[in-house]
Amino acid sequence: MTRLSQGVIKQILESAYKARLHRLLGRNAKKLVKAFRIDEITGLNLTDAITLVEDLVDVQVANAIQRQGFEKAKRKALLLPHCARSCMGRQCMADFDASVPTYICRECRSDCLVNKATKLARAAGYDVYIVPGGACTQKILKDGKYDGVVGVACGMELKMAREPLRKLGIPGQGVILTKNGCANTSLDLHNLQSIL
Ligand code: SF4
Repeated sequence: MTRLSQGVIKQILESAYKARLHRLLGRNAKKLVKAFRIDEITGLNLTDAITLVEDLVDVQVANAIQRQGFEKAKRKALLLPHCARSCMGRQCMADFDASVPTYICRECRSDCLVNKATKLARAAGYDVYIVPGGACTQKILKDGKYDGVVGVACGMELKMAREPLRKLGIPGQGVILTKNGCANTSLDLHNLQSIL
């Protein structure tokens, strides 16, 4: 295995990815969960857990395929989801600048994930944007002339971002949210740090 070149590993990953092998495994796992009523018996939402695992594999494989191109990038942006801000409502001091578009973090809370992630990325040389949705990203990437991007989002948003990025010719890396939703979402800062 260690004798395989990076190029061969990349080709294997691309083939497995195109064949949607991870989705096939996930579909079969879901059928077993349903057939044996494992959700009901254990009280766990295993279908959701399997979907999360599927999404994690999906993102990991896509990241591996894009990694070489991403590492060559000179201008990189980090796109953070606004739903990960602490106290998203009136207590969050961030202003929204629609001309970019991004929220501007005022660093009002030291325990806020968005604040922490912003500091990590800026220290690594990234420009950081806190966006209300994937629709904002094209303008940011074009205006900033970025040639590499890291996006933090749910599995669905990360998947939807791939085609626009491919069209723009920008290699991307995804960091999947560890808790989804419209508010109070979470991300793993160690995972983010390893991607940056
Ligand atoms: S640290 Fe920034 S993002 Fe977090 S609550 Fe304060 S202003 Fe909002």
